[in-house]
Amino acid sequence: MANSIEYRFICDVMLGRLAKWLRILGFDTLYFRVISDGELVKIAKQEQRIILTRDRALIKNKMVENAFLINSNDIVEQLEEFLKLFKNHFDKISAFSSRCVNCNSELHKVQKEAVLNEAPEYIIFNNNFFLKCYNCGKIFWDGSHKKMIDRTIREIFGNIRKRTYYEAENANQS
Ligand SMILES: [Zn+2]
Repeated sequence: MANSIEYRFICDVMLGRLAKWLRILGFDTLYFRVISDGELVKIAKQEQRIILTRDRALIKNKMVENAFLINSNDIVEQLEEFLKLFKNHFDKISAFSSRCVNCNSELHKVQKEAVLNEAPEYIIFNNNFFLKCYNCGKIFWDGSHKKMIDRTIREIFGNIRKRTYYEAENANQS
């Protein structure tokens, strides 16, 4: 699945869950459980990635370009912060194509027949939509996991719309 989103990201060690969600939303996002600030900044520069971090010192570091601070420790709030920062790309996000949560590679739609030996029988039987990561071999299907993801995404987008609307109303009154 081709991805039209041009921004690419790298999350610091404290943003592992956010990194996974960004992949689900289709953003090319690197994440390492262990990485030094120096290495993080180096990769960001080399691969022209935007740094997402919870580390204020990193943001203030003059050597670091293109870094954004994520304030919250809560995953839903973190996603809201992220989507606010990049809200001009909402249209692209809504037509998202997921990346592999595991390894960040693009996912490919595959036929049921192609995953017959790779997922439990009841899952093959109960689902018609499968995505496969050709890099790490992981398979995703349209089951409860995806429904949970869809619901969370709807909630987050709903909240942001409400909040943006509220802010716009307040601005009109002043
Ligand atoms: Zn993968």
